[in-house]
Amino acid sequence: MRDLTIAAARTALRSGALSARELTDAHLDAIAALNPRLNAFITVTPELARAQADAADAALRRGAHGALTGIPLGIKDLFCTAGVRTTAASRILGPFVPPYESTVTARLRDAGAVFLGKTNLDEFAMGSSNMTSAFGPVTNPWTRRGDNAPLVPGGSSGGSAAAVAARLALGATGTDTGGSIRQPASFCGIAGLKPTYGRCSRWGIVAFASSLDQAGPFARTVEDCAILLGAMAGHDDRDSTSADIPVPDFAAACTRGVRGLRIGIPREYRSDGMAPEIGALWQQGIAWLRDAGAEVIDISLPHTKYALATYYIVAPAEASSNLARYDGVRFGLRAEGEDLTGLYENTRAAGFGAEVRRRIMIGTYVLSAGYYDAYYLRAQKVRALILSDFTEAFRECDALLTPTAPSAAFAQGEKMDDPVTMYLNDVFTVPANMAGIPGLSVPAGLDAQGLPLGLQILGRPFDEETVFAVGTAIEHAAGFTAAPAAG
Ligand code: GLN
Repeated sequence: MRDLTIAAARTALRSGALSARELTDAHLDAIAALNPRLNAFITVTPELARAQADAADAALRRGAHGALTGIPLGIKDLFCTAGVRTTAASRILGPFVPPYESTVTARLRDAGAVFLGKTNLDEFAMGSSNMTSAFGPVTNPWTRRGDNAPLVPGGSSGGSAAAVAARLALGATGTDTGGSIRQPASFCGIAGLKPTYGRCSRWGIVAFASSLDQAGPFARTVEDCAILLGAMAGHDDRDSTSADIPVPDFAAACTRGVRGLRIGIPREYRSDGMAPEIGALWQQGIAWLRDAGAEVIDISLPHTKYALATYYIVAPAEASSNLARYDGVRFGLRAEGEDLTGLYENTRAAGFGAEVRRRIMIGTYVLSAGYYDAYYLRAQKVRALILSDFTEAFRECDALLTPTAPSAAFAQGEKMDDPVTMYLNDVFTVPANMAGIPGLSVPAGLDAQGLPLGLQILGRPFDEETVFAVGTAIEHAAGFTAAPAAG
């Protein structure tokens, strides 16, 4: 039953063929068996999960179910969960137990979902490999054919992606600041969507870069992502950047088809250095969409080459400001010092890992007097140009198709020597965050070593429906049924 989609599990729960308690227990057992190896969860909450499952069964018996009643999910440990420790995978939050629930998780809970626990991530969501977690790396449930070397699940939402791929949860939440939903979805052979900036409330999510962060779903099918997003999304008075726009029926949009749609292929994403298998899969995706009735056109996003450099100014700048609150006084860890400055310094030196310290230093540098204009202000101007590239492109086409990531999952420990090599993982995903547009990664094939590869669909702001329709067409054509060895 752990192989069920969310859509199928809902039907089975509503008909009484399956109970929420059975479904939850099956997942808790699998977590107990596999988590010691995968490390996908930082905290497992069996008592909470069983209580929610029993409440779901009672609601189902009364016929009073919500959109997700009885569906077991993993929650990225960046979402504050009332009464359940929230770590952001950092030492600095120490034993922090939030007294409140994030808006997104409150909505999922109110829709009847069952929370299995808090999933692992890169510290403060900074990374592409889940190697920076203070709680240890996550192991991808996939391995290369004939080779047991542990691979990364991608990052930063690596625990959520690994949990869904290994059948430890039917779906999970993630956050995506520069690719942290789409890249791990691609590395783990599942679907993951970053919604339009403002579609989901950021209230109660530990902030990384506030103008880029968005919450979104992971699941094994596009339709399941649509079902989850329907429950997560919507306006929230407590987040002034959340959009007051109605939440459409995303799941219904999945069946629209692509006939008559114009799909843009951005020529700047076609670099000479692209791995041949990724280029071939992209061509295959183009052919699938053409066969399904879409018109495929070449488009240009001329400022693409500046996106990554701009991101690594804007994101650290905002992070350095957001992370200033971890001072040893109000939250979590405290390392004493001789005076107040000593307390700040000792706490922050003991609490933050190397990557987070690097981002804080870059961020304070680009915001400092004398450099602000040269770096931060200029980056904001380039960001506006990146957005206008997309605005122009969407005059000619309805969605874009690109690869999700420049490679398949790599080995744990690889790409750790030079941060820039790690940052390059995000070349195809970062532009969507800079522009605030939605992006979906769909598993589309396997490479020669048997590892999953994803294709990315980008859409107009608040047009997740078209993104889901195109994603479903790719999913059907790809017929991706492969599953990882662990699961
Ligand atoms: N890998 C990117 C970074 O390290 C994006 C992370 C994210 O989306 N949270 O910043």
